[in-house]
Amino acid sequence: MAARIPAKGFAIHSREGKFQRHDFTRHALGEKDVLIDIHYCGICHSDIHSAYSEWHDGIYPMIPGHEIAGVVKEVGAHARKFKVGDKVGVGCFVNSCKECAPCTHHHEQFCPKVVFTYDCPDHFHNNEPHMGGYSNCMVVDEDYIIRIPHDAPLEKIAPLFCAGITTYSPLKFSQVKEGSKVGIAGFGGLGHMGLKYALAMGAQVSVIGRSEAKREQALKMGAKHYYSSVEDAKGADLDLILSTIPTPYNMTDYLDALRYGGELAIVGNPPKDVLPSVNVAELIMHGNKKVYGSLIGGIEETQEMLDFSILHHIYPEIELVTGEDIDQVYYNLTHSNAPFRYVIDMKKSLGS
Ligand SMILES: [Zn+2]
Ligand SMILES: [Zn+2]
Repeated sequence: MAARIPAKGFAIHSREGKFQRHDFTRHALGEKDVLIDIHYCGICHSDIHSAYSEWHDGIYPMIPGHEIAGVVKEVGAHARKFKVGDKVGVGCFVNSCKECAPCTHHHEQFCPKVVFTYDCPDHFHNNEPHMGGYSNCMVVDEDYIIRIPHDAPLEKIAPLFCAGITTYSPLKFSQVKEGSKVGIAGFGGLGHMGLKYALAMGAQVSVIGRSEAKREQALKMGAKHYYSSVEDAKGADLDLILSTIPTPYNMTDYLDALRYGGELAIVGNPPKDVLPSVNVAELIMHGNKKVYGSLIGGIEETQEMLDFSILHHIYPEIELVTGEDIDQVYYNLTHSNAPFRYVIDMKKSLGS
């Protein structure tokens, strides 16, 4: 039997804990698995919700991280898709059953047996908790790995595997095209990616913030309008609003900014104690507007998103940090004092 693979990373041991260096092992390299040497891992707001058990009781010790970019180090005996030295990425999930309706329709994220990249039992490996990308390596089934072109900047590619696909997928689902009027609600890691994709799809984009703070950045990135509150956006007649807001808000206010029949797509997921709900009476009176949720995207669409991003030079605005900075980064991200995306330089943090 093949040996388990030694690994190191940065783990949190309880919801009140701080991040610490953590040695552990990953499951052995299976026949169709790929061993990835992780170079960069983005820090997503989901990492914070999970690390602090804001969505559900977390599985500790927990190594978060699902915006992973690296290089193939070894391939299993029957893995055919990748070779040693290829640049690759991993996003929010690492396995699924491959047989159910969501899997066969390329929406593996909705598989009942999906294995999320962290804070989730690995149903295909004795339910051991899967550890995320704040680590030096990962073993992943080749079917859940995204191909990255050789000359692409890995540090900027990493956040695309969550922030990129999460915003790209609903824009495609709502068929954003030349001339569409798109609003971006919440202008952080996800929001600024939504703005860039919507622009590349030909839309006219408005950003709906909650203060004046991000006006200049939004306009510089190509937004046509910036509203410093949702009240100011009332009557904006938007086709689609993409809500990336990770904190409580009044959903009906956003419906007021949509045209007749417009859509509100929700990707931001606030803590469970403060989840927004929609007032059905107001929804009924609101002109056939639709509210829907969207969760990342399947593997096929994630590859499509990556290819689209590279073709249009769409990358996040990032700041590189090390594993020692994670606690401070989480503080910054929860006190709106942050750049658009922090990315951990894993090589600098853990050596090779
Ligand atoms: Zn994420
Ligand atoms: Zn499935």
